[in-house]
Amino acid sequence: MEKNESGNTMCDAIVVGGGPAGCSAALFLARSNRRVILLDKAKFPREKVCGDAFSGKSVGIARELGVLPEIEKAHQGIVRGLLMVAPNGKKVNVPFRKGPGLEFAGYTVERKLVDDAFFTAARNEPNITLHENFSVTGLLKDEMGRVCEVTGKDLATNEEMKFHSRVVVGADGAGSTISRLLAHPPQPLEHIYTAIRGYWSGIDGLSDDIELFFIDGVLPGYLWVFPMEKGRANVGLGILSSDLKGRKKHPNTILLEAIATHPLLSQRFANAKLEGRIGAWAIPNGSYVKKNFGDGWVLVGDAASLVDPFSGEGVGNALCSGKYAAQAIDAALNDVKEGALPASSLEAYSKMVDERLRPEMLDSYRLQRLSRFRFLLNLFIGKAADKPEARQMIINMMGSNDEKKKVTSPLFYLKLLLP
Ligand SMILES: Cc1cc2nc3c(=O)[nH]c(=O)nc-3n(C[C@H](O)[C@H](O)[C@H](O)COP(=O)(O)OP(=O)(O)OC[C@H]3O[C@@H](n4cnc5c(N)ncnc54)[C@H](O)[C@@H]3O)c2cc1C
Repeated sequence: MEKNESGNTMCDAIVVGGGPAGCSAALFLARSNRRVILLDKAKFPREKVCGDAFSGKSVGIARELGVLPEIEKAHQGIVRGLLMVAPNGKKVNVPFRKGPGLEFAGYTVERKLVDDAFFTAARNEPNITLHENFSVTGLLKDEMGRVCEVTGKDLATNEEMKFHSRVVVGADGAGSTISRLLAHPPQPLEHIYTAIRGYWSGIDGLSDDIELFFIDGVLPGYLWVFPMEKGRANVGLGILSSDLKGRKKHPNTILLEAIATHPLLSQRFANAKLEGRIGAWAIPNGSYVKKNFGDGWVLVGDAASLVDPFSGEGVGNALCSGKYAAQAIDAALNDVKEGALPASSLEAYSKMVDERLRPEMLDSYRLQRLSRFRFLLNLFIGKAADKPEARQMIINMMGSNDEKKKVTSPLFYLKLLLP
């Protein structure tokens, strides 16, 4: 790649973070013939604490980027349905449908493998220059106040380096350094889940269903069992960080106690073994609307707080936001011929997020707030277990915002109460 007069490497865009959001942005830009520098502090393949559910939107973008065959090769489980368990122990099974526009079925696949598939695609892309083991620590602005350079350190050699570009994409996840350097205020705790997960082997009674347990002390979050290979599962839970404040019990204790005592788990886990340690990370929810563009920068994925507030799924929105950012940046580079891109040229990205991702996240936020009420969950899951029409609503809800809205309307619960 070319250097400018000061010897800095020049490119169209710098993407900070090589997870799903960053790889998506980098790959879509590169395929529009833009020159990209992709920086990540980790060396790939690297671990990522996650529930490992790869579904819906994620499958669609992986296919579009040509990465799906690698993920299908790597997958450990196929998801064909959902088991929901109410706080009172009542349960319902719902099969997922698959069809045009209804891509419910997905995979469980360790994030180390998913992220490596995307990162390898970026590695093979001639328009992308990769720097792994590179930790970004600073941003520099031009005389117009637009971000135009990132600084950081190669963690292998300790060499300080800087890179110059026309736009910086912050794709550096939940603890985003870029967000902090841009002086975003800290995200309120009621819009963050603290989530933990571990891998257990030797579990009885696993099927192709992902299992969600709504249990006291965790609501509006849930405990999950996501089946991987035979008898092995990713097991974890997410609790709103605001609910954890001042609480004596550590989330690990809540998880281990639930596994040992829940009537639908304890027998199945009697001979199960925890592999390695339980990992924890933050999930920044899309219920919090964060500024995601400005002079010379955009934020994507977790750095932009785009996780579904009900399900906790973030990979799909990370991939989509990377794509939208790339489309907006490509158009802006066509319009503005030189220098760092002004905020006005990048606003299209934020509009795409608001039109295509925000409505679903807001509906999910309504669902999340309702899920705080155990009697509603007991009613909803109990009725769904008995009434085929209510079960059908859950199936529809997984694929449609309109159906999600119905579930958040008081009329829906009145109808459920009718015999
Ligand atoms: C316990 C748990 C379970 C979850 N389960 C699911 C699930 O089942 N399905 C789902 O879809 N989502 C799930 N999520 C959410 C999902 O993990 C995230 O939404 C997703 O990883 C976001 O992708 P991203 O690319 O924005 O960020 P990340 O995947 O976090 O990638 C960020 C990258 O930036 C790099 N980086 C960070 N700082 C710097 C820096 N200063 N310099 C250079 N590089 C840097 C990191 O090394 C990393 O590679 C879960 C999250 C948690 C915590």
